[in-house]
Amino acid sequence: MTHPIARVALPIPLDKNFDYLIKSNMTPVIGGRVLVPFGRQRLVGIVVAIGNDSDFPIQQLKPIQQVLDNQPLWQPPLFGLLKWASSYYQYPLGDALANAMPALLRKGREASTATLKYWQLTDTGREQPLNGLKRAPKQAQILNLLRHGPLSHDALLADDVSSATLKTVMQKGWIVEQQQQPKQLQWQPQFAITEQKPRLNEEQALAIATVNSNPGFGCYLLDGVTGSGKTEVYLNLLEPILAAGKQALILVPEIGLTPQTINRFKRRFNVPLETVHSGLNDSERMTAWLAGRDNQAGIIIGTRSALFTPFADLGIIIVDEEHDASYKQQDSLRYHARDLAVMRANKENIPIVLGSATPALETLHNAQTGKYHYLTLSKRAGNASAARHGVIDVKGLYLNAGLSAPLIAEMRKHLNAGNQVMLFLNRRGFSPAMMCHECGWIAECTRCDAYYTLHQQSGELRCHHCATQRPIMHQCQQCGSTQLLPVGVGTEQLEAQLAELFPEFKTVRIDRDSTRRKGSLENYLEAIKNNEYQILIGTQMLAKGHHFPNVTLVALIDVDSALFSNDFRASERLAQLFIQVAGRAGRASKPGSVLLQTHHPEHQLLQSLLHKGYGVFSQAALTERRQALLPPFTHLVLLRAEANDSDQVCQFLQQVRAIFEASPVYDQDCCVLGPNPAPLARRAGRFRWQLILQIPNRNKLQQILTIAKPAIQLLPLAKKIRWSIDVEPQDLT
Ligand code: ADP
Ligand code: ZN
Ligand code: ZN
Repeated sequence: MTHPIARVALPIPLDKNFDYLIKSNMTPVIGGRVLVPFGRQRLVGIVVAIGNDSDFPIQQLKPIQQVLDNQPLWQPPLFGLLKWASSYYQYPLGDALANAMPALLRKGREASTATLKYWQLTDTGREQPLNGLKRAPKQAQILNLLRHGPLSHDALLADDVSSATLKTVMQKGWIVEQQQQPKQLQWQPQFAITEQKPRLNEEQALAIATVNSNPGFGCYLLDGVTGSGKTEVYLNLLEPILAAGKQALILVPEIGLTPQTINRFKRRFNVPLETVHSGLNDSERMTAWLAGRDNQAGIIIGTRSALFTPFADLGIIIVDEEHDASYKQQDSLRYHARDLAVMRANKENIPIVLGSATPALETLHNAQTGKYHYLTLSKRAGNASAARHGVIDVKGLYLNAGLSAPLIAEMRKHLNAGNQVMLFLNRRGFSPAMMCHECGWIAECTRCDAYYTLHQQSGELRCHHCATQRPIMHQCQQCGSTQLLPVGVGTEQLEAQLAELFPEFKTVRIDRDSTRRKGSLENYLEAIKNNEYQILIGTQMLAKGHHFPNVTLVALIDVDSALFSNDFRASERLAQLFIQVAGRAGRASKPGSVLLQTHHPEHQLLQSLLHKGYGVFSQAALTERRQALLPPFTHLVLLRAEANDSDQVCQFLQQVRAIFEASPVYDQDCCVLGPNPAPLARRAGRFRWQLILQIPNRNKLQQILTIAKPAIQLLPLAKKIRWSIDVEPQDLT
């Protein structure tokens, strides 16, 4: 007798799916969620197949407990993309699918707006005097938070309110629950262009016509200098799509999702727009997901993970700043959102536009080999002008917190003229350590092969790799001397030094630490615009997407660490940073200049970048990559492994190497490098090793991994060691 059986992908780190019986009163669907027993737990899984047989005896199968969806969560193109990503990036399907769902769906909530619970004040709640609640500060907090209007349950929980307190306040009759009514808004009839459009220049018009003349899938690289009008091209491409009632997805880098960007789209079109980014709480995320699926949003703008938003009728994908490193996810499903976006456009049979002033070498290569169409905007739109640039040879010069005397003099000139100055520091290799002046000993983390970073303000030594911290010591641990000095330059030290050098000017530091709080980046940017600060210190973050018309001098303080890095992408990143800052400094009436400090002004890549521009630089860099058999001419797979026992890690990777080499598809074009110690060879007490697999083509790469992974999992050491596979890694540390 046959029995209907569902194969279910579960959110667990195993590369297999599980079979469950379908009871006669149930109608699960492929791509929909079910609740199933698993050991002693109950898990929410996704049905991936329905059939009549199982590899297991039917008597041993358990039945599905509950069917949660009567229609698939994803249309076939997106569901297909997720399955492809799971296999290409070697990440279990159940986990990959769970990653692509809002948390509320993972928890089993209904996939509709009815699932979003809101709280609002009642009239009695509104009249409660808050100072009467001194003994119940949490209750007062709730009333205060709701004073400005209803908030979702999840938003309140995110604000450190507990469900229990909410219940208490509800029982007092001060707040009531409010269900979101499912909206059924039709935005299409209201579609309109709501601002005056600029007249397109010839290159813009050509780019737009090229995309519009090819129906269906096509991938277009829009290579245009900063300010050349790429965004204007995107807006024009969206117009016929939205007018036809279709939706648009716009991906931006993590730091590019600024109110400025969002407002340009809002100003142009009268269509509902949603944003998707890591700062959303559970219900906001769910709202955006549903808005895409139910066609309640015409435009969705978001960072990396927005790629997995379902759409009722997607018409185009734009990836802005496509070279940006934040498109690669660095843990769990290690996908590259730009690459997956191209794949999605292909499956949806729609156009995709990759825009950048400094395209990734991979993307340029794809355009040169004809895989992507190449579109260019060579002139700046409007009336901006290009920045001047120069090199300061710092060989033998005294550096004051990393600044040479010529740079300090130049800064003074610009500051005295009433302009702003921006200084860039690479994060890596730039933190101050503590050194003994007598014997040269440097305070080192006891758990990592790394020096402690000195945080003068908090009086601590902190390891940035394992988060260990300890008070600043006063004696050298090697010779006992008390002459301990900070060495190296960190942003904190630079800031202190600038205050001494330029007491009359105010300095602001923009990096991940100083902008952690929601909204603080916007506040800083606003303050900079209003000239409240004159000296800006920044990392990569400051370079992206922000235009500061009063900044007339930009300096890259340490170019050498990128030119001589052991990461083969470092010089590409430096070039991108340089072009970005050069493109944003100054304006027509106040031309900007960019200065680079280096010990190696003669460096060939630096020379071609400075004198011939990114186009020539990228050709030279591509030639180097070709000769070194590096991406895009080969594809890399990085196996990371770590454990407390160094020998075991090395031995494990040797066995992995043997598995690769024994693969029936492995041939003389393939190559395995290592095992080698990772650039950071020890972290948090664990020894870290790497193995790199180099393969000329993607299909072969996938074949080798698909055969190798189950074999690796069977190695006895695989259970003792923490290891991961990173397909096409962006970061080799
Ligand atoms: P990008 O996205 O390449 O940095 P933008 O699209 O933001 O460039 O354009 C830069 C500036 O030039 C914007 O202020 C924009 O409004 C303006 N601009 C763009 N295209 C034109 C055009 N064809 N005519 C006049 N101004 C334009
Ligand atoms: Zn450490
Ligand atoms: Zn010493």
